[in-house]
Amino acid sequence: MKHPGRLAKIREIISAVGPQALLVTKPANVRYLSGFTAREASLLILPDRAWIVSDFRYALQAEQEAPGFEFVRVQQPMPDLAGRIRELGLASLAFEPGHLTVQQHAELSQHLPDIQLVGVPDAVESLRLAKDEEEIFLIRKAARLADAAMDLLWKSVAPGKSERELALEVELFIRRSGADDVAFEVIVASGPRAAMPHATPSERRIAPGDLVIMDLGACCEGYRSDLTRTVVVGEASDTAKRIYEVCYEAQQAGLAALKAGVPCAEVDAAARVLIERAGYGGYFGHGLGHGVGLEIHEAPRLSSTETTRILEPRMVVTVEPAIYLPSVGGVRIEDLVLVTEKQSEVLTRSRKPATIPEV
Ligand code: ZN
Ligand code: ZN
Repeated sequence: MKHPGRLAKIREIISAVGPQALLVTKPANVRYLSGFTAREASLLILPDRAWIVSDFRYALQAEQEAPGFEFVRVQQPMPDLAGRIRELGLASLAFEPGHLTVQQHAELSQHLPDIQLVGVPDAVESLRLAKDEEEIFLIRKAARLADAAMDLLWKSVAPGKSERELALEVELFIRRSGADDVAFEVIVASGPRAAMPHATPSERRIAPGDLVIMDLGACCEGYRSDLTRTVVVGEASDTAKRIYEVCYEAQQAGLAALKAGVPCAEVDAAARVLIERAGYGGYFGHGLGHGVGLEIHEAPRLSSTETTRILEPRMVVTVEPAIYLPSVGGVRIEDLVLVTEKQSEVLTRSRKPATIPEV
């Protein structure tokens, strides 16, 4: 068993809620509890036994990656799984309502008419909020690679290059540097396209005067990093200078507010108020940040709606204020931060001038 402590904790949570067993179907949660990396598997966890349920293709991999889990080979996942559950004589089964599909739920209900299916939201996610030493080690490693990749991009970005070319260069770099993969599709958004928070790289060629948002991350043994810098190619306009300054100050305020014990909404507000005061409140439409771990966007969210969620030590979140001006462009500055009791630790260290960098 790779993570006996995690399994013990999830068993405690489920037994406190009531059901006799838990069905885990979300891939990141399967990986977190068992170490199994393929996406096509689920876990069936009882108080004294644990199964990994998948098909023939993954038998060997499951044995290697998830020692301690008994392998259950299925052909039709839900009906076959239901058969196994019936044999166990369970009266109740917890499932992940945020992930199990309506169809899978219907199949389980149909094959298990006598078993009570209980949706228990975010049970494994609640364990994943605070990271352990091994997780922090891997996130730090992913952050180092993101820093190096940003350095490369900073040198590469130039008039005439397409967003796609730049994104590809950085992706190759990240993969060659020892990461499993990029943490998410690299974003290079230039000129007016920088007004779109999640622009996918296009054939657009960088032109003098463009604002360029560069957002990237690496994935190391499943754990991700997330880093954004914005530069201007050539000379910055007064608007570009102004929105960069406002964003920079907002990020400083967000980083200063970020520590254990503070509600997530307060950190969002600390940064947002500066953007609002500068008159750009309407151009910052997303939350200030998000948790990062096995998923690129996970809990906790730093947003105005997260008034009851309190930051805890060992959470890893981004702080990424932004201003998007339609048809002009945008600025986003993002770092990855480890929450601690005192001054939280910024994990990404890519250079970040207080005034807009002209490259
Ligand atoms: Zn990002
Ligand atoms: Zn992000």
